[in-house]
Amino acid sequence: MTQFAKRVTAIDISGIRKMFEGAGPDAINMGLGQPDFDTPENIKAAAVAALAGGKTGYTNNAGVDELRAAVAAKLSRENNISCNAGNVVITAGGSGALNIAIQSLIDSGEKVIFNNPGFVSYGALTTLAGGVPDPVALRPDLHLDVETIKEHMSDPKAKVFVLNSPANPTGMVETPETIRAIVESAADYDVTVISDEVYEKFCYGSTKFVSAATFGDNVVTVNAASKTYAMTGWRIGFLAASEEIVHEVIKVQQYTLACATSIAQYAALEAYAGPQDSVAAMKKEYEARRNLLIAGLTDLGIPVNKPDGAFYAFPKIDAETVMKIVNAGVIITPGTAFGSAGVGYARMSYATSQKNIKAALERIAKVME
Ligand code: PLP
Repeated sequence: MTQFAKRVTAIDISGIRKMFEGAGPDAINMGLGQPDFDTPENIKAAAVAALAGGKTGYTNNAGVDELRAAVAAKLSRENNISCNAGNVVITAGGSGALNIAIQSLIDSGEKVIFNNPGFVSYGALTTLAGGVPDPVALRPDLHLDVETIKEHMSDPKAKVFVLNSPANPTGMVETPETIRAIVESAADYDVTVISDEVYEKFCYGSTKFVSAATFGDNVVTVNAASKTYAMTGWRIGFLAASEEIVHEVIKVQQYTLACATSIAQYAALEAYAGPQDSVAAMKKEYEARRNLLIAGLTDLGIPVNKPDGAFYAFPKIDAETVMKIVNAGVIITPGTAFGSAGVGYARMSYATSQKNIKAALERIAKVME
Protein backbone atom coordinates (compact mmCIF):
# COMPACT_ATOMS: atom_id res chain seq x y z
CA MET A 1 0.00 0.00 0.00
CA THR A 2 1.22 3.47 -0.84
CA GLN A 3 2.36 5.43 2.19
CA PHE A 4 1.55 9.11 1.88
CA ALA A 5 2.99 12.11 3.64
CA LYS A 6 1.03 12.85 6.82
CA ARG A 7 1.00 16.57 6.13
CA VAL A 8 -1.02 15.76 2.99
CA THR A 9 -3.30 13.04 4.36
CA ALA A 10 -4.03 15.34 7.32
CA ILE A 11 -5.86 17.85 5.14
CA ASP A 12 -9.32 17.51 3.63
CA ILE A 13 -10.68 18.40 0.21
CA SER A 14 -12.62 21.69 0.54
CA GLY A 15 -16.21 21.13 1.72
CA ILE A 16 -17.54 23.69 -0.74
CA ARG A 17 -17.67 21.40 -3.77
CA LYS A 18 -19.46 18.68 -1.80
CA MET A 19 -22.56 20.88 -1.70
CA PHE A 20 -23.04 20.62 -5.47
CA GLU A 21 -23.94 16.97 -5.17
CA GLY A 22 -27.34 17.31 -3.44
CA ALA A 23 -28.71 19.92 -5.86
CA GLY A 24 -30.71 19.26 -9.03
CA PRO A 25 -29.73 20.31 -12.58
CA ASP A 26 -31.69 23.60 -12.43
CA ALA A 27 -30.17 24.59 -9.10
CA ILE A 28 -29.18 28.23 -8.56
CA ASN A 29 -25.54 28.31 -7.57
CA MET A 30 -24.78 30.65 -4.68
CA GLY A 31 -21.89 28.47 -3.59
CA LEU A 32 -19.14 29.80 -5.82
CA GLY A 33 -16.39 32.17 -4.82
CA GLN A 34 -15.82 33.54 -8.27
CA PRO A 35 -17.18 36.46 -10.31
CA ASP A 36 -19.90 35.51 -12.80
CA PHE A 37 -18.62 38.25 -15.15
CA ASP A 38 -16.38 37.59 -18.15
CA THR A 39 -12.86 39.07 -18.22
CA PRO A 40 -13.03 42.60 -19.74
CA GLU A 41 -12.34 42.72 -23.51
CA ASN A 42 -9.26 44.99 -23.30
CA ILE A 43 -7.58 42.40 -21.04
CA LYS A 44 -8.44 39.50 -23.34
CA ALA A 45 -7.10 41.51 -26.31
CA ALA A 46 -3.78 42.01 -24.49
CA ALA A 47 -3.48 38.23 -24.05
CA VAL A 48 -4.20 37.67 -27.74
CA ALA A 49 -1.55 40.25 -28.66
CA ALA A 50 0.99 38.60 -26.34
CA LEU A 51 0.29 35.26 -27.95
CA ALA A 52 0.57 36.67 -31.48
CA GLY A 53 3.75 38.47 -30.47
CA GLY A 54 5.40 35.23 -29.38
CA LYS A 55 5.55 36.08 -25.66
CA THR A 56 5.41 32.39 -24.90
CA GLY A 57 8.68 31.63 -23.11
CA TYR A 58 9.57 31.51 -19.42
CA THR A 59 9.60 34.89 -17.73
CA ASN A 60 11.77 35.87 -14.76
CA ASN A 61 10.84 33.87 -11.65
CA ALA A 62 9.43 37.04 -10.09
CA GLY A 63 7.46 37.90 -13.22
CA VAL A 64 7.59 40.20 -16.23
CA ASP A 65 9.42 43.44 -15.32
CA GLU A 66 6.71 45.76 -16.74
CA LEU A 67 3.99 43.96 -14.75
CA ARG A 68 6.01 44.09 -11.52
CA ALA A 69 6.50 47.82 -12.10
CA ALA A 70 2.78 48.31 -12.86
CA VAL A 71 1.82 46.49 -9.65
CA ALA A 72 4.33 48.56 -7.63
CA ALA A 73 2.86 51.73 -9.16
CA LYS A 74 -0.67 50.57 -8.27
CA LEU A 75 0.39 49.84 -4.67
CA SER A 76 2.03 53.25 -4.32
CA ARG A 77 -0.86 55.12 -5.97
CA GLU A 78 -3.91 53.31 -4.55
CA ASN A 79 -2.69 51.59 -1.38
CA ASN A 80 -0.22 54.09 -0.02
CA ILE A 81 2.46 51.36 0.07
CA SER A 82 5.80 52.74 -1.06
CA CYS A 83 7.51 50.01 -3.04
CA ASN A 84 9.18 49.35 -6.35
CA ALA A 85 9.23 46.47 -8.84
CA GLY A 86 11.88 44.67 -6.75
CA ASN A 87 9.36 44.27 -3.92
CA VAL A 88 6.79 42.51 -6.13
CA VAL A 89 6.54 38.83 -7.09
CA ILE A 90 3.95 37.76 -9.67
CA THR A 91 2.37 34.46 -8.62
CA ALA A 92 -0.12 31.82 -9.73
CA GLY A 93 -3.14 33.62 -8.30
CA GLY A 94 -3.53 34.80 -4.73
CA SER A 95 -3.23 31.10 -3.83
CA GLY A 96 0.31 30.96 -5.22
CA ALA A 97 1.27 34.04 -3.22
CA LEU A 98 -0.16 32.62 0.02
CA ASN A 99 1.66 29.35 -0.60
CA ILE A 100 5.13 30.76 -1.24
CA ALA A 101 4.76 33.20 1.67
CA ILE A 102 3.74 30.50 4.16
CA GLN A 103 6.35 28.03 2.83
CA SER A 104 9.10 30.59 3.35
CA LEU A 105 8.02 31.86 6.77
CA ILE A 106 6.97 28.69 8.62
CA ASP A 107 9.23 26.08 10.17
CA SER A 108 7.99 22.77 11.55
CA GLY A 109 5.71 23.28 14.57
CA GLU A 110 5.33 27.05 14.13
CA LYS A 111 1.88 28.57 14.26
CA VAL A 112 -0.15 30.49 11.70
CA ILE A 113 -3.04 32.43 13.24
CA PHE A 114 -6.15 33.23 11.19
CA ASN A 115 -9.83 33.92 11.63
CA ASN A 116 -12.39 31.16 12.19
CA PRO A 117 -14.51 30.99 10.09
CA GLY A 118 -12.03 31.96 7.39
CA PHE A 119 -10.79 31.19 3.90
CA VAL A 120 -10.14 27.44 3.62
CA SER A 121 -6.56 27.68 2.33
CA TYR A 122 -4.90 29.28 5.37
CA GLY A 123 -5.04 26.19 7.57
CA ALA A 124 -4.34 23.74 4.74
CA LEU A 125 -1.28 25.65 3.48
CA THR A 126 0.03 25.83 7.05
CA THR A 127 -0.28 22.06 7.47
CA LEU A 128 1.40 21.48 4.09
CA ALA A 129 4.30 23.66 5.26
CA GLY A 130 4.65 21.54 8.42
CA GLY A 131 3.21 24.30 10.62
CA VAL A 132 0.33 24.35 13.07
CA PRO A 133 -2.94 26.11 12.13
CA ASP A 134 -4.16 28.35 14.96
CA PRO A 135 -7.70 29.53 14.14
CA VAL A 136 -9.22 32.26 16.34
CA ALA A 137 -13.02 32.56 16.52
CA LEU A 138 -14.57 35.78 15.26
CA ARG A 139 -16.72 37.90 17.59
CA PRO A 140 -20.51 37.39 17.41
CA ASP A 141 -20.69 40.42 15.06
CA LEU A 142 -18.32 38.45 12.76
CA HIS A 143 -15.47 40.94 13.17
CA LEU A 144 -11.94 40.12 14.31
CA ASP A 145 -11.42 39.67 18.04
CA VAL A 146 -8.27 41.77 18.42
CA GLU A 147 -7.64 41.03 22.12
CA THR A 148 -7.80 37.25 21.62
CA ILE A 149 -5.61 37.53 18.52
CA LYS A 150 -3.01 39.40 20.60
CA GLU A 151 -3.03 36.59 23.17
CA HIS A 152 -2.40 34.06 20.41
CA MET A 153 0.42 36.23 19.01
CA SER A 154 2.14 36.21 22.38
CA ASP A 155 2.74 32.45 22.07
CA PRO A 156 6.46 32.02 21.19
CA LYS A 157 5.43 29.53 18.48
CA ALA A 158 3.28 32.17 16.72
CA LYS A 159 4.97 33.21 13.48
CA VAL A 160 2.32 34.53 11.08
CA PHE A 161 -1.10 36.17 11.29
CA VAL A 162 -3.21 36.07 8.14
CA LEU A 163 -5.46 39.10 7.89
CA ASN A 164 -8.30 38.98 5.37
CA SER A 165 -10.40 42.12 4.97
CA PRO A 166 -12.81 42.27 3.18
CA ALA A 167 -13.28 38.73 4.43
CA ASN A 168 -14.31 35.44 2.95
CA PRO A 169 -16.75 33.95 4.07
CA THR A 170 -18.31 36.77 6.13
CA GLY A 171 -18.06 39.82 3.85
CA MET A 172 -16.86 41.89 6.84
CA VAL A 173 -14.52 44.86 6.38
CA GLU A 174 -12.24 45.71 9.31
CA THR A 175 -11.66 49.33 10.38
CA PRO A 176 -8.28 51.04 9.96
CA GLU A 177 -8.01 51.08 13.80
CA THR A 178 -8.38 47.29 14.00
CA ILE A 179 -5.85 46.74 11.22
CA ARG A 180 -3.37 49.12 12.81
CA ALA A 181 -3.75 47.40 16.21
CA ILE A 182 -3.09 44.01 14.64
CA VAL A 183 -0.03 45.12 12.64
CA GLU A 184 1.48 46.93 15.63
CA SER A 185 0.90 44.02 18.02
CA ALA A 186 2.34 41.62 15.46
CA ALA A 187 5.49 43.76 15.30
CA ASP A 188 5.75 43.63 19.10
CA TYR A 189 5.66 39.84 19.02
CA ASP A 190 7.82 39.36 15.89
CA VAL A 191 4.86 37.99 14.00
CA THR A 192 4.64 38.60 10.23
CA VAL A 193 1.24 39.67 8.91
CA ILE A 194 0.13 38.25 5.58
CA SER A 195 -2.60 40.62 4.42
CA ASP A 196 -4.89 38.89 1.93
CA GLU A 197 -6.49 41.77 0.04
CA VAL A 198 -8.08 39.92 -2.90
CA TYR A 199 -11.49 41.58 -2.27
CA GLU A 200 -9.98 45.05 -1.89
CA LYS A 201 -12.05 46.60 -4.70
CA PHE A 202 -15.39 45.38 -3.40
CA CYS A 203 -16.22 47.54 -0.36
CA TYR A 204 -19.71 49.08 -0.14
CA GLY A 205 -20.01 50.59 3.32
CA SER A 206 -18.60 53.54 5.22
CA THR A 207 -15.44 51.69 6.32
CA LYS A 208 -12.75 52.61 3.85
CA PHE A 209 -10.46 49.86 2.64
CA VAL A 210 -6.93 50.25 3.97
CA SER A 211 -3.87 48.09 3.33
CA ALA A 212 -2.18 46.61 6.39
CA ALA A 213 1.27 47.48 5.01
CA THR A 214 0.54 51.19 5.59
CA PHE A 215 0.92 50.48 9.34
CA GLY A 216 4.24 48.61 9.38
CA ASP A 217 6.89 46.83 7.38
CA ASN A 218 6.23 43.39 8.94
CA VAL A 219 3.53 42.83 6.32
CA VAL A 220 3.37 40.69 3.18
CA THR A 221 0.61 42.06 0.95
CA VAL A 222 -1.20 39.42 -1.12
CA ASN A 223 -3.58 40.31 -3.92
CA ALA A 224 -4.74 38.92 -7.26
CA ALA A 225 -6.27 39.82 -10.60
CA SER A 226 -8.74 36.96 -10.00
CA LYS A 227 -11.64 38.72 -8.28
CA THR A 228 -10.83 42.34 -9.18
CA TYR A 229 -10.84 41.78 -12.95
CA ALA A 230 -12.94 38.58 -13.17
CA MET A 231 -9.80 36.60 -14.06
CA THR A 232 -9.99 33.55 -11.77
CA GLY A 233 -8.94 31.12 -14.49
CA TRP A 234 -5.93 33.16 -15.62
CA ARG A 235 -4.10 32.39 -12.37
CA ILE A 236 -2.37 35.71 -11.75
CA GLY A 237 -1.76 37.18 -8.32
CA PHE A 238 1.10 38.87 -6.57
CA LEU A 239 2.78 39.48 -3.27
CA ALA A 240 4.60 42.61 -2.20
CA ALA A 241 7.10 42.57 0.65
CA SER A 242 10.52 43.70 1.80
CA GLU A 243 13.46 42.70 -0.40
CA GLU A 244 14.59 40.36 2.39
CA ILE A 245 11.29 38.43 2.16
CA VAL A 246 11.26 38.55 -1.65
CA HIS A 247 14.74 36.98 -1.65
CA GLU A 248 13.38 33.92 0.20
CA VAL A 249 9.93 33.50 -1.40
CA ILE A 250 11.45 33.65 -4.86
CA LYS A 251 13.32 30.40 -4.15
CA VAL A 252 10.06 28.59 -3.43
CA GLN A 253 8.53 30.08 -6.57
CA GLN A 254 11.57 29.08 -8.66
CA TYR A 255 11.46 25.41 -7.70
CA THR A 256 7.69 24.94 -7.64
CA LEU A 257 6.28 27.10 -10.43
CA ALA A 258 9.28 28.70 -12.23
CA CYS A 259 7.03 31.61 -13.20
CA ALA A 260 3.40 32.55 -13.70
CA THR A 261 2.01 31.98 -17.21
CA SER A 262 3.64 34.47 -19.61
CA ILE A 263 0.51 35.25 -21.66
CA ALA A 264 -1.62 35.76 -18.55
CA GLN A 265 1.02 38.13 -17.16
CA TYR A 266 0.70 40.37 -20.24
CA ALA A 267 -3.08 40.30 -19.81
CA ALA A 268 -2.62 41.31 -16.16
CA LEU A 269 -0.35 44.18 -17.26
CA GLU A 270 -3.30 45.59 -19.21
CA ALA A 271 -5.57 44.92 -16.19
CA TYR A 272 -3.41 46.88 -13.73
CA ALA A 273 -2.14 49.60 -16.08
CA GLY A 274 -5.21 50.02 -18.35
CA PRO A 275 -8.65 51.57 -17.81
CA GLN A 276 -10.40 50.63 -14.56
CA ASP A 277 -14.05 51.33 -15.48
CA SER A 278 -14.97 47.63 -15.67
CA VAL A 279 -14.01 47.27 -11.98
CA ALA A 280 -16.31 50.16 -11.04
CA ALA A 281 -19.15 48.61 -13.07
CA MET A 282 -18.73 45.20 -11.39
CA LYS A 283 -18.63 46.82 -7.95
CA LYS A 284 -21.86 48.71 -8.64
CA GLU A 285 -23.61 45.52 -9.69
CA TYR A 286 -22.32 43.53 -6.67
CA GLU A 287 -23.57 46.27 -4.38
CA ALA A 288 -27.07 46.17 -5.92
CA ARG A 289 -27.08 42.38 -5.52
CA ARG A 290 -25.95 42.62 -1.92
CA ASN A 291 -28.76 45.05 -1.13
CA LEU A 292 -31.29 42.78 -2.82
CA LEU A 293 -30.08 39.66 -0.99
CA ILE A 294 -29.84 41.26 2.46
CA ALA A 295 -33.30 42.85 2.13
CA GLY A 296 -34.73 39.50 0.99
CA LEU A 297 -33.15 37.50 3.84
CA THR A 298 -34.29 40.11 6.37
CA ASP A 299 -37.87 39.93 5.01
CA LEU A 300 -37.75 36.17 5.51
CA GLY A 301 -36.70 36.66 9.14
CA ILE A 302 -33.25 35.14 8.59
CA PRO A 303 -30.73 36.97 10.83
CA VAL A 304 -27.78 38.39 8.91
CA ASN A 305 -25.10 40.97 9.67
CA LYS A 306 -24.92 43.37 6.72
CA PRO A 307 -21.72 42.51 4.86
CA ASP A 308 -19.80 45.55 3.64
CA GLY A 309 -17.39 43.83 1.28
CA ALA A 310 -16.45 40.91 -1.00
CA PHE A 311 -19.46 39.14 -2.57
CA TYR A 312 -20.67 36.99 0.31
CA ALA A 313 -23.39 37.13 2.95
CA PHE A 314 -23.06 34.97 6.06
CA PRO A 315 -26.57 34.58 7.50
CA LYS A 316 -27.53 32.47 10.49
CA ILE A 317 -28.90 29.28 8.94
CA ASP A 318 -28.45 25.94 10.71
CA ALA A 319 -27.04 22.85 8.98
CA GLU A 320 -30.44 21.14 8.66
CA THR A 321 -31.98 24.18 6.94
CA VAL A 322 -28.91 24.46 4.67
CA MET A 323 -29.62 20.92 3.44
CA LYS A 324 -33.30 21.77 2.87
CA ILE A 325 -32.33 24.88 0.89
CA VAL A 326 -29.86 22.88 -1.22
CA ASN A 327 -32.52 20.22 -1.87
CA ALA A 328 -34.92 23.02 -2.87
CA GLY A 329 -32.47 24.02 -5.61
CA VAL A 330 -30.27 26.75 -4.12
CA ILE A 331 -26.64 25.81 -3.57
CA ILE A 332 -25.24 27.49 -0.45
CA THR A 333 -22.32 26.44 1.74
CA PRO A 334 -22.56 25.48 5.43
CA GLY A 335 -20.51 27.80 7.62
CA THR A 336 -18.54 24.86 9.03
CA ALA A 337 -16.82 24.48 5.63
CA PHE A 338 -14.84 27.58 6.75
CA GLY A 339 -14.02 26.43 10.28
CA SER A 340 -15.62 25.10 13.44
CA ALA A 341 -16.90 28.55 14.49
CA GLY A 342 -19.00 28.69 11.32
CA VAL A 343 -21.54 26.36 12.95
CA GLY A 344 -25.09 27.70 12.61
CA TYR A 345 -24.21 29.89 9.61
CA ALA A 346 -24.16 29.54 5.84
CA ARG A 347 -22.23 31.37 3.15
CA MET A 348 -24.23 32.75 0.24
CA SER A 349 -22.27 34.11 -2.70
CA TYR A 350 -23.99 36.90 -4.62
CA ALA A 351 -21.66 36.54 -7.59
CA THR A 352 -24.77 35.62 -9.55
CA SER A 353 -27.43 37.67 -11.36
CA GLN A 354 -30.19 39.65 -9.63
CA LYS A 355 -32.67 37.41 -11.44
CA ASN A 356 -31.05 34.35 -9.85
CA ILE A 357 -30.97 36.01 -6.42
CA LYS A 358 -34.72 36.79 -6.65
CA ALA A 359 -35.51 33.22 -7.74
CA ALA A 360 -33.29 31.84 -4.94
CA LEU A 361 -35.09 33.97 -2.35
CA GLU A 362 -38.46 32.59 -3.58
CA ARG A 363 -37.20 29.01 -3.20
CA ILE A 364 -35.80 29.77 0.26
CA ALA A 365 -39.13 31.38 1.25
CA LYS A 366 -40.88 28.06 0.50
CA VAL A 367 -38.38 26.19 2.71
CA MET A 368 -38.91 28.67 5.56
CA GLU A 369 -42.74 28.35 5.46
N1 PLP B 1 -7.93 34.66 -0.70
C1 PLP B 1 -9.25 34.63 -0.48
C2 PLP B 1 -9.80 35.27 0.74
C3 PLP B 1 -10.11 33.99 -1.39
O1 PLP B 1 -11.41 33.96 -1.15
C4 PLP B 1 -9.53 33.38 -2.53
C5 PLP B 1 -10.39 32.66 -3.51
O2 PLP B 1 -11.52 32.32 -3.26
C6 PLP B 1 -8.17 33.45 -2.71
C7 PLP B 1 -7.37 34.09 -1.78
C8 PLP B 1 -7.48 32.78 -3.88
O3 PLP B 1 -7.56 33.54 -5.01
P1 PLP B 1 -6.92 33.07 -6.38
O4 PLP B 1 -8.04 32.55 -7.23
O5 PLP B 1 -6.34 34.33 -6.94
O6 PLP B 1 -5.89 32.05 -6.11
